[in-house]
Amino acid sequence: MSDYIVLVKQVPDVSQITDNAFDPETGTLVRTRLASVINELDTQALAFANRMRQDSNDRTGKIICLSMGPPMAEEVLRYGLGRAADIAILLTDRALGGADTWATANPLAFAVRKIVKEILKNDSDYYVITGMQSVDGDTAQVPPQIAEELSLPCIAYATKAEFKNGRFELTRIISGGSQVVAPKKLPVIITVAKYEYPLFATFAATRRASKVQVIRWGAADINAVHIGVTGSKTSVIRVFPPGKTSRKCRQLHDVKDLAAMIIESSKGGDDKTAQKGDGQKRKYVLPAKRANKFDRSFEGTEKENEDYRLLADTLKQLGIKDVTQIDDAAQERILAAVGQRFHKKALEDMIEGFKFTEPTFKKGEVWVVAEHKDGAVHPATFELVGKARELADSLATKVGVVAAGYQLEPMAKELIAAGADNIYIIEDKLLRVFDPTAHRKAIADAINAYWPQIVLYAATPQGRMLAPMVSYRVGCGLTADCTGLDIRDSSRKGDIGFLLQTRPALGGNVMATIRTKSSRSQMATARPGVMKRLPPDYSKTGKVIRHKVELSQNDVSLEIIKTETAGGGVNFNADVIVSGGKGMQSRDNYDRLLGALCQALSKKLQTQVERGASRAAVEQGFIERAHQVGQTGTSIGPKLYVALGISGAIQHMIGVANTETIVAINSDPSAPIFKQCDYYFVGAIEDTIPSLVQALE
Ligand SMILES: Cc1cc2nc3c(=O)[nH]c(=O)nc-3n(C[C@H](O)[C@H](O)[C@H](O)COP(=O)(O)OP(=O)(O)OC[C@H]3O[C@@H](n4cnc5c(N)ncnc54)[C@H](O)[C@@H]3O)c2cc1C
Repeated sequence: MSDYIVLVKQVPDVSQITDNAFDPETGTLVRTRLASVINELDTQALAFANRMRQDSNDRTGKIICLSMGPPMAEEVLRYGLGRAADIAILLTDRALGGADTWATANPLAFAVRKIVKEILKNDSDYYVITGMQSVDGDTAQVPPQIAEELSLPCIAYATKAEFKNGRFELTRIISGGSQVVAPKKLPVIITVAKYEYPLFATFAATRRASKVQVIRWGAADINAVHIGVTGSKTSVIRVFPPGKTSRKCRQLHDVKDLAAMIIESSKGGDDKTAQKGDGQKRKYVLPAKRANKFDRSFEGTEKENEDYRLLADTLKQLGIKDVTQIDDAAQERILAAVGQRFHKKALEDMIEGFKFTEPTFKKGEVWVVAEHKDGAVHPATFELVGKARELADSLATKVGVVAAGYQLEPMAKELIAAGADNIYIIEDKLLRVFDPTAHRKAIADAINAYWPQIVLYAATPQGRMLAPMVSYRVGCGLTADCTGLDIRDSSRKGDIGFLLQTRPALGGNVMATIRTKSSRSQMATARPGVMKRLPPDYSKTGKVIRHKVELSQNDVSLEIIKTETAGGGVNFNADVIVSGGKGMQSRDNYDRLLGALCQALSKKLQTQVERGASRAAVEQGFIERAHQVGQTGTSIGPKLYVALGISGAIQHMIGVANTETIVAINSDPSAPIFKQCDYYFVGAIEDTIPSLVQALE
């Protein structure tokens, strides 16, 4: 008999965000102006658990819904009780508020421990099931962190569970395809990425739900170690509205105009390949290496930068060249010169801060955790090496790449040419294929041995699962899905050369800048397609360092039953790519309509036009997986990208970020892609494409 602990979260309803939800003064989101709802993926997790219980033909297994949040989060537990849950537990306490993912995972893991001890009577035959991520945080970090705290395996991004021969086989999304796996033993944590069978409330269950008492636990009941703001290992420095897209978002009303514009755009020249969201142009230099010792132009906020600029100007005017010259009398003169701008205490802090010139996170290297398969390095790893090179040069340190696997040495040459200095190789037959538990042990062991000051992972499905486990294991904070990484100082606090991590949150409605605290190393995952790969330099030299980690079969948590990934034969280097989404509606439409458009474009432009697809189109069987564009497909950067019947999900748009011109055709006038493209046309593909083909001809 298996039991199911389902984690559910109450979140702001980000689908209802209007301009009214933003504070007009600060531009930040006022969360109280949004309704609260259950996190959609958690409803899918509950349906997933219910289906598992049904399919295993085991009606005695309990479903226990667990939530952490304010007292009003009881609503989402009643949702669970009204559908499938037998027991509901709310972890609620002011002390738990303001937590980052680390201080969320820790008390939730302790609550799971208490459930197992007191309700499941220490029976280990259970599953923890949760949505892959919540719409407010979008990090996907909490479940793998809980897995790490409880020493459980984690199967992330599950889309299907099949009961076969007395056990469950789970299908999950992986980079470039999907994989069927089974946990070698229970318990296990499963995160659900998509489950399309909704769970409806029944009359009897709804009646029961209104009567059943929701169990309430406070922080003292679970004895968690890291809770609330003080237990967090990251802190948000700034929240701000996302910059306006650099895309034109222009609607075209006439198919002839659309055809003319497509021809014009295919010529290229409208270079959008600059590092979006990573806009800081000036290169950070450590204070010790700056020409002017009073130059503090890389402070955390613009206000702090201005204060330091004013102070530097004033010191120059007063002829002060060294911090030791700033005695009490000099301080009085500075204060008189700057007027009301800062107080005496602030000035004292700034003067004290001038004494700090070396990085706070010591002299460790900047590391990238390599993602690779069958001897080929994932393109996102090369992009991160490019970023790591920039960060390491600023911090006057080296770039290290750590790779766990088997027979890895041939990869080293390419990684060194891409900008790495040292390649740390952990080889073992047990690491031949990616197993989250074995790989996190290997990578964490290397970090513990060398302590880099920064560790970057690609925000691919693999990286988003591995990074939370590794960072939790080594006791460091982690920021997910960064689109900007910059080095900054907070001189007044004596904090030099730390990593500012900027990421979209709340479904991309706000941007948050985050920094690491109470950690020995700063860790972040970064979105593929955002950072820039450096041109390879094969004359560059580097070192290969072998790191040995003791591994046994006990470290491998999953049995891999089947892996389905894209084959080759697709030329995504073509200048023009036309992709079809679920809106193509059938394979026949995809072949006929998209095929006709590709042919007409190829003839008109005298260039190869490649076919692409969204993941949904691939899943519908419109075309083979090798053609999938996006986060788990291929990231592309053609001159012209034409998206037909594609909604514009973030996982798709990440893959086309480096495209020069994006054209979208969609029948829905409010399709999200229209806010992320250059030109769009509202119309059904069945009507629009034949006339577009005619216009091109
Ligand atoms: C971990 C993870 C990784 C993922 N990786 C990827 C990835 O790499 N690539 C990817 O694409 N997705 C990926 N996804 C899936 C992604 O979230 C979306 O579900 C997917 O991109 C949606 O594809 P779509 O736009 O074709 O379908 P939908 O979102 O269903 O949109 C279909 C669109 O077609 C329009 N339409 C319908 N009928 C017509 C018509 N007759 N004429 C014109 N328009 C019409 C609709 O208005 C709608 O906008 C991933 C998801 C997860 C969880």
